[in-house]
Amino acid sequence: MTSYPDTQLLIDGAWRPGETGESLPVMNPATSREIGRVARATRADLDAALAACERGFAEWSRVSAFERGKIMRKAAQLLRDRADVIAPILTLENGKPLAQARIEIMSGADIIDWFAGEGQRAYGQVIPSRAPDVIQIAMKMPVGPVAAFTPWNFPVNQVVRKLSLALAAGCSIIVKGPEETPASPAELVRAFVDAGVPAGVINLVYGNPAEISEYLIPHPVIRKISFTGSTPVGKQLAALAGLHMKRATMELGGHAPVIVAGDADIDQALDVIAPYKFRNAGQVCISPTRFLVQDALHDEFTERFTEIAAAVKIGSGLDEGVEMGPLANERRIPALEGMIADAVERGARLTTGGRRIGNEGWFFEPTVLAEVPVEARIMNEEPFGPVAVINRFGDLDEAIAEANRLPFGLAAYAFTRDSATANRLGREIAAGMTSINHIGLALPEVPFGGINDSGHGTEGGSEAIEAYLETRFVTRKG
Ligand code: NAD
Repeated sequence: MTSYPDTQLLIDGAWRPGETGESLPVMNPATSREIGRVARATRADLDAALAACERGFAEWSRVSAFERGKIMRKAAQLLRDRADVIAPILTLENGKPLAQARIEIMSGADIIDWFAGEGQRAYGQVIPSRAPDVIQIAMKMPVGPVAAFTPWNFPVNQVVRKLSLALAAGCSIIVKGPEETPASPAELVRAFVDAGVPAGVINLVYGNPAEISEYLIPHPVIRKISFTGSTPVGKQLAALAGLHMKRATMELGGHAPVIVAGDADIDQALDVIAPYKFRNAGQVCISPTRFLVQDALHDEFTERFTEIAAAVKIGSGLDEGVEMGPLANERRIPALEGMIADAVERGARLTTGGRRIGNEGWFFEPTVLAEVPVEARIMNEEPFGPVAVINRFGDLDEAIAEANRLPFGLAAYAFTRDSATANRLGREIAAGMTSINHIGLALPEVPFGGINDSGHGTEGGSEAIEAYLETRFVTRKG
C-alpha cells in the first residue's frame, strides 16, 4: 500500500502548518475517501510568504544565471531520481494511471532543464548609436516576485513551467498550488529546495483560491501573475491584474477541434488520437474534443472510435494495465452528465458510455456522442472529461468555419495526406497550437499557450521567459 503524506506550506524555507492550524481534506478519487490533509494558509501566512518572497527576490536576482541554471539542473535530476516515489503520490491524489504520472514527472524534469538554459540566454541588445562615444544597451532584468496559481489536472507540470521560468529569469515566487492534489507539487518544490534554492525564493501555499488571489494579485510586492485554469476565473484574475498594472500570463480553457480530412490515413489517425482523448480522463486543456470528420471517413471513424472508447481499461491508477483512472473530483460527474443529457435531448446519438461507473470513486465511462447539434452545450462548453463529439463535414471550408466558431483558441489537430490541405489548415485554424498528423504539443522547447478566450502568453519555447523579464534601457556617453 502506497502511503500518502500530509502537505504543509513552505514559507521562508520552512515547511510548516498555517498560522491557524487549519487544514483541508485531500480525497482519493479512486475511492472517494479522505487520504490526507493539506495546510490552509490565511492572511498571516500570506504576509509571511510575501515578506520572504521580497527578500528571496533580492537574493536570487543577484545570483548569476549560470549558478541559477546549475541549481535548477540539480533539481531536475533530483526529480528524476525521485520519480518512482512521487508518481504513486500523484496517482493517489489525482487518479491518473501510474505510467502517466511518471511521464508527467519525467517531462517536468526536462522542462526544468530547458528553462535553466533559457535563463542563460536571456540576451539584451547593444543598439547602434548616433554618436561614436554613446553606448546604448537594452538589458533584460527579472520582473520581480511572481504569484502563480495552478490547477489539479497536471499537479506537477502546471507548477513546473511557472516555477522554472521564474527561477531561470531570477524571480522569486509564491505558488498557490492545487488543494485537491497538493502533495506531488510539494515534492516538486522539495526537489528545488534540496538542490539549494535559498529560503524565501520559492514559497508554496494552499487555501481558499479566491481569498489568496484577491490578496496576492494587488499586493505591491507581487510584480507578475501566472494562472492556469478556467476561462471565467482567468478573466477575473486578468482584470484584477490589469487594475493593478501587473503583467499576467493566462493559460485557460480550450475546446480542441480535430479535422479528419477524407484523404487521411484512418488507421494512423485513430491510433494517435483516440487514446489521446482519454489521457488523464480527458481532463486536459488541450484534449481533442470536437472531431470533425469528412463524409468519406465519417461512418468508419465513428464506429472504430466507439470500439476503442468502449475497450479502454478503467480502474485505479495504481493497478497494472489501467489506461484511464477516475475523474479527479466529484463535481466533474454532474457537469458531464448534464452536458451529455443536454446533447441527447437535442438529438445527438450516444454511441458508447455516458454514465458514472459504480458509486465508489469518481469513475466515468469513456463516451462518444455523434451527430451533435451545434446548439448543444457540449459543442460550446469545455467538457473537461472523457467525452468525444464526432460530427460530419462536407468541404474543408465548413470544417474550418466550425473549428473557428468558438471563442476558444488553444489546441487543434488535423489529419490529412495532402500537403496543400495541411498547409491551409496550419494557417487558417485559429489556435495557439496546431498538431497535424501526429501529437507534437507541450514539449519544453515549443510554444505552449492559447489565443482569444484561451488566454495569452506562452509557457514553452524561447519566447516564454520574456514574460518574466523586463527591458531596461541604459544609454551612456563617454
Ligand atoms: P474552477 O474554475 O473552479 O477552477 C479551476 C482552477 O482555478 C482550480 O485550480 C481552482 O483552484 C482555481 N481557481 C478558481 N477560482 C480561483 C480564484 N478566484 N483565484 C485563483 N484561483 C482560482 O474549475 P474546476 O471545477 O476546478 O475545473 C473545471 C474547469 O476548469 C474545467 O472545465 C476547465 O475549463 C478548467 N481547468 C482548466 C485547466 C487547464 O489546464 N487550463 C486545468 C484545470 C481546470
